[in-house]
Amino acid sequence: MRASCRVVAQTLRLMSELVKPGITTQELDTAAEELITSNGGAPSFKGYRGFPASICASVNSGVVHGIPGSRRLEEGDIISIDVGVLKDGYHGDGAATFGVGKISQAAAKLLEATRSGLMAGIEKALAGSRIVDISRAIQDTVEAGGYSVVTDLVGHGIGRQMHEEPQVPNFVVPGDSPVLASGMTLAVEPMVNSGGSEVKIEGDGWTVVTRDGSLSAHFEHTIAIRADGAEILTLV
Ligand code: MG
Repeated sequence: MRASCRVVAQTLRLMSELVKPGITTQELDTAAEELITSNGGAPSFKGYRGFPASICASVNSGVVHGIPGSRRLEEGDIISIDVGVLKDGYHGDGAATFGVGKISQAAAKLLEATRSGLMAGIEKALAGSRIVDISRAIQDTVEAGGYSVVTDLVGHGIGRQMHEEPQVPNFVVPGDSPVLASGMTLAVEPMVNSGGSEVKIEGDGWTVVTRDGSLSAHFEHTIAIRADGAEILTLV
């Protein structure tokens, strides 16, 4: 898990360096795939249920699952990039939203709120706690900033499969919640909208966008549960 997650982190670092006005999302995808394969990994997303690319690239009102293409990034855009890597039989999954050039203060605040939500959730991820403790910390942090969490999509267990049990919602789900045990590996990934929480899927069958056209951000880490807290695996 550390090995695959490290490649995820390296790829996201490369993306942060390449994201600039004028670059296309296809060029980002090509660069990501090259880095992943040259590090002995394979892009987890490529071919997953027919997904045609190595990264997901979701711009502005794009929430997740955007397909890279000929779109050129423009000054002031935000872009969420999601990276999955399979290496030595294990998957790693991570995402971040980047500003393209100079972005509005509103956009910058959304990014910061989403990242804060992720980190608040990870702080609650320790053995003996429950999934809902992660969910609540994310939801409280995000909503305190006046933003909404997307409820149609959730984080997930991860390991030999990219998506495993348990689900990791970014909002409180009433009822029983799985207990966290040392050694569990989870992908925690708040998706946060500046407007309403509702989303829809574009005509390409993949791209999830906000229903009201508001901006959306997405930050994700793969973590390992420990007795004294979570180890973040998707770090360089
Ligand atoms: Mg994920």
